[in-house]
Formats: sequence, C-alpha cells, structure tokens
Amino acid sequence: ATPMSIMIATGRGAHEGVLIKDAEALERFARVDTLIVDKTGTLTEGKPRLTDVVPLGGISDTRLLKLTASLERASEHPLAEAIVSGAQERGIDPSDASDFEARTGKGVLGKADGTPVALGNAAMMDDLGIDVTPLAEQVRSLRDDGKTVMFVVVDGRLAGFVAVADQIKQTTAAAIKALHDNGLTIIMATGDNERTARAVAKSLGIDEVRADILPEGKKALVDELRAKGAVVAMAGDGVNDAPALAAADVGIAMGTGADVAMESAGLTLVKGDLNGIVRARRLAMATMLNIR
Ligand code: ADP
Ligand code: MG
Repeated sequence: ATPMSIMIATGRGAHEGVLIKDAEALERFARVDTLIVDKTGTLTEGKPRLTDVVPLGGISDTRLLKLTASLERASEHPLAEAIVSGAQERGIDPSDASDFEARTGKGVLGKADGTPVALGNAAMMDDLGIDVTPLAEQVRSLRDDGKTVMFVVVDGRLAGFVAVADQIKQTTAAAIKALHDNGLTIIMATGDNERTARAVAKSLGIDEVRADILPEGKKALVDELRAKGAVVAMAGDGVNDAPALAAADVGIAMGTGADVAMESAGLTLVKGDLNGIVRARRLAMATMLNIR
C-alpha cells in the first residue's frame, strides 16, 4: 500500500477504536486466515460471578467459601475477585491469608485462618495428588453450562468446589459470524477446562477449541499453526498473552488489558470486543484493495 493509503487507514482506524502500529501490521492483517481468540475477557465479559458453592465431607458451605475467599483476597486473578465479591455478597467477611502462592494457569495455595487451603483446576489437583472423582459428576454438569469450576482442598483433603460463570459479550456472536463470512477460521484458546470451553465455543459456532493450555501453550499454538502455513492473528488481553501476540503474524491487544500486551501487538483495540477485529479486517482489506 502507498504511504498515503496507510495514513488514511491509520486515521480512520483511530477514529473507529483500532490503533494500527505500522503499515506491515495492516498489510499482514489483510492476509490473515486464522484468528486465535482468548476466551476470558475477549469472548466473555471477563467479569466472572460466583454461582455455586458445593461442599464435600462435612464442611459447611459458609466455611468453605470463607476459607476460599480469604485465600483469594491475596490473588489478582479475575476468578479470585469473583470469589471474594461472591462471599461478601453472601455476608461472609474474608479473613487474612498467609504463605500465599499463585501457580499461573493452575490456582493458588496458602493458609487461611491458619488452615492450609488450596484451590484451582485439575492440573492443580494433580500437582497436589488430590483425586477429584468424588465430585466428577456434579462438576461435569456445571461445565456443560459453560461454568468454570475450581476444586478446593482444605487441610490436605478435597473439601468441595466453587464455580463461576462469565457472560458472553452481547457483541460476540454477531462478530464471530462476520469474521466467518470474511473467511477466517476461528480458534478459541483458553486456560480453562475443555468441557467448559467446548460449551462456550458450541454456543458461538467457533471452529476449534484448545483448552487447558498454560500461557506458554498459546505461543506454541501460534507457532504450530504458522508452521502449517496458516497466517495467524492472535487476540488477547493479558500479561500472559504477550509472547503469543508477539509470535503471531499479527498480535491484537484487546485494549482493556495489560500494557505489555499492547507493546507486543500490531493492532490494539481501544474497546476490547471482537467488533474491533471486524472493523480492522474491513479496513485492512479496503486499504490493500485500493492500491492494486
Ligand atoms: P484464562 O485462559 O481463562 O485466562 P488462566 O490461564 O488464568 O485462564 O487460568 C486457568 C485456570 O487455572 C482457571 O480456569 C482456574 O481453574 C485456574 N486458576 C488460575 N488462577 C486461579 C486463582 N487465582 N484461583 C483459582 N483458580 C485459578
Ligand atoms: Mg487470562
């Protein structure tokens, strides 16, 4: 494209909430055939809410939630915020935690009220040597509703689980359709559980799901698809997403997220929804067509 057409596109993009880093980013985006999107915060609101507290083995639901929320007060993860607010809304005052440790993509552990507590996903339970089969059936049905389940361990024993739901953004379904019409294959990448991810993907008509992936896994997915010849755009919002954004042909930072995501991105969307990607794609196509 000519410098002039790029300048015009950049100006129009800024007006529409699409910040374009340079001419190459726009040119490459016109050639993209595969879009990887993060589930949490990109497809969904990224504001999960506590929906279920299910105790196991004699602990009360109040105690289970109090211990869980006390530990999560020390975490900055959106799931942690959901648990803390959910507890407060139910009249439970979280206390202080100690010996807090966060394991990225897995969960948290430490002490609450002097009691050892851990919570997180199946990988976290594997690390701790905890068997979750006693809860398998209940967990499965919640995941089929698209909920995220976190197992809770108290004093070294499985003590139940908590679940949260994160609403799909109102704009997501129409944007997915527009991107499909534009010839893109859409892949959801998430650290969340496979069953939960599939439930959300199915409701949106997303082509492919990669679940249970750790942050490094998103970069590996980008590398894998590019090695197969795909021209890949990756949209994400987190600090964790930066390596994958940088590895993609075009990284798309969803503007509501971390600064480091924006630094690694060719495109930054001021408003963090998929409509920005639809607009960016139209802009890129129009700019490239104009010059031929
Ligand atoms: P996402 O891809 O949705 O951003 P993450 O990679 O941050 O997910 O986390 C993956 C999974 O690890 C979560 O779905 C959750 O089960 C578990 N997890 C991560 N952080 C926490 C936390 N602070 N408390 C409980 N569970 C957590
Ligand atoms: Mg994330």
